[in-house]
Amino acid sequence: MGSLAARDGLTLDQVVVIRHPLVQHKLGLMRMKETSVSQFRRLLAEISMLLAYEVTRELPTHDVEAETPLGPTTIRLLDGKKIVLVSILRAGNGLLDGMLGILPSARVGHVGLYRDPQTLEAVEYYVKLPAEMHERDAVVLDPMLATGNSAVAAVNRVKATRPRSIRFVCLVTCSQGLEHFHAVHPDVPVYTASIDSHLNDHGYIVPGLGDAGDRLFGTK
Ligand code: URA
Repeated sequence: MGSLAARDGLTLDQVVVIRHPLVQHKLGLMRMKETSVSQFRRLLAEISMLLAYEVTRELPTHDVEAETPLGPTTIRLLDGKKIVLVSILRAGNGLLDGMLGILPSARVGHVGLYRDPQTLEAVEYYVKLPAEMHERDAVVLDPMLATGNSAVAAVNRVKATRPRSIRFVCLVTCSQGLEHFHAVHPDVPVYTASIDSHLNDHGYIVPGLGDAGDRLFGTK
């Protein structure tokens, strides 16, 4: 997806579109309306491992002197306190398992937001973030960056804790959502597998994959 038209006028500086064939294949299967809840859940867990690999690519490391069984060497370890994955409830939780699979020591924060169906504004009902955020790199998770309202509200909350860096990971977005998000948070890169065509009148991404929370939890 992500036609050229959808990207016209969009500054792609702070947007990383992950075109890896495995990511695109899994996303394609997730889009299909015939995909069952269990398949959707498994695909989301698998794809999130691949997204975790991309979003951590630029994390700072430092050299440490160590000994292998055969002698001294210099190894590279991640800098600072453990990374924090911040799930935007509830669909963000679908990205957590896969990410924790390759970042097993990561800390996890939650931001609970729901979308007012009339105004499409994000309404906050829960926030819990780890301590010492100023020493951590934060990765905020939501499979769908649609209107951008939830993403903006969640990143506002995370930013207030002054983490060392913030990145945003989604599976699918659209130019409207990206423009809104980057109008407020131009410093936060967005990692996505697709920039889709547009939003419909209900704030859903078209063609998208439907309601990610419902498909993940089987609530429809
Ligand atoms: N949330 C979803 O789950 N899907 C969309 O298309 C938009 C918001």
